[in-house]
Amino acid sequence: MTPNGLHLQPVGALRATSLRKSFKTGRTKVEVLKGVDFDARHGEVTMVMGPSGSGKSTLVAALSGLLRPDEGDVVALGEPLWSKPSGKIDKFRLDHCGFIFQGFNLFPALTALRQITTVLKYQGVRNDEARARAEQALDEVGMKPKMNQRPSELSGGEKQRVAIARALAKQPKLLFADEPTSALDGENGQIVIRLLQRAAKAHDAAVICVTHDPRLEAYADRVIHIEDGRILDDRRRLAPAHEAHERRLQGAEV
Ligand code: ADP
Ligand code: MG
Repeated sequence: MTPNGLHLQPVGALRATSLRKSFKTGRTKVEVLKGVDFDARHGEVTMVMGPSGSGKSTLVAALSGLLRPDEGDVVALGEPLWSKPSGKIDKFRLDHCGFIFQGFNLFPALTALRQITTVLKYQGVRNDEARARAEQALDEVGMKPKMNQRPSELSGGEKQRVAIARALAKQPKLLFADEPTSALDGENGQIVIRLLQRAAKAHDAAVICVTHDPRLEAYADRVIHIEDGRILDDRRRLAPAHEAHERRLQGAEV
């Protein structure tokens, strides 16, 4: 409430309006995003689901400052993103965004610990604090015992947990995950999605997770379906996602 008694709407984490994006291949121009409106909130996992080729990765890239849309804008943490000069967009990404990709994107030569400290130091975090934050993030994903191992010495699920720890150690307010479970078996996929849930709740991050895996739907606070570059429906869950999931497992109505 403001001093003159007005209620202020909380600033949403991310809001996109009328996003359009086309790609040209040879002489043909293909419209991949056909006027997408989107919003995501702090403390929630928003799942974007849709078939392969529906525009999910393009949407995430446009939402996160990686790919400029042809039309429309994104307001991220209260600031218009695409009207900034490109250097400022890069800085915004560095300061506020975490990314988790399907292929883990770990540096082959670095131990799990150094995967994280290297990135934090690049961000300007001091050595001792970088180490403390890296250890804490690895602990959160259950990987502290293997912090001195390199990617070649880790399983797929463990690599993805390190990649998540690296993203969490940045303490980003916006966390983007593009098919983070597709290289994993069901059990490791569930671990990963639970970690994303925890990141949303513990760090108040807005987690935007793209997947074509319908098994993950139960873990979302909110599910948005995209098909052929358009949003089909947008469902907000009434109960926290895991509770809804537990009830569904027990055969009760959700
Ligand atoms: P999804 O992630 O849902 O599988 P994408 O957003 O990756 O879908 O791609 C949607 C469509 O856009 C696909 O048909 C893909 O071939 C096309 N596309 C994506 N990126 C490019 C690009 N850089 N150049 C040309 N076409 C692209
Ligand atoms: Mg994709």
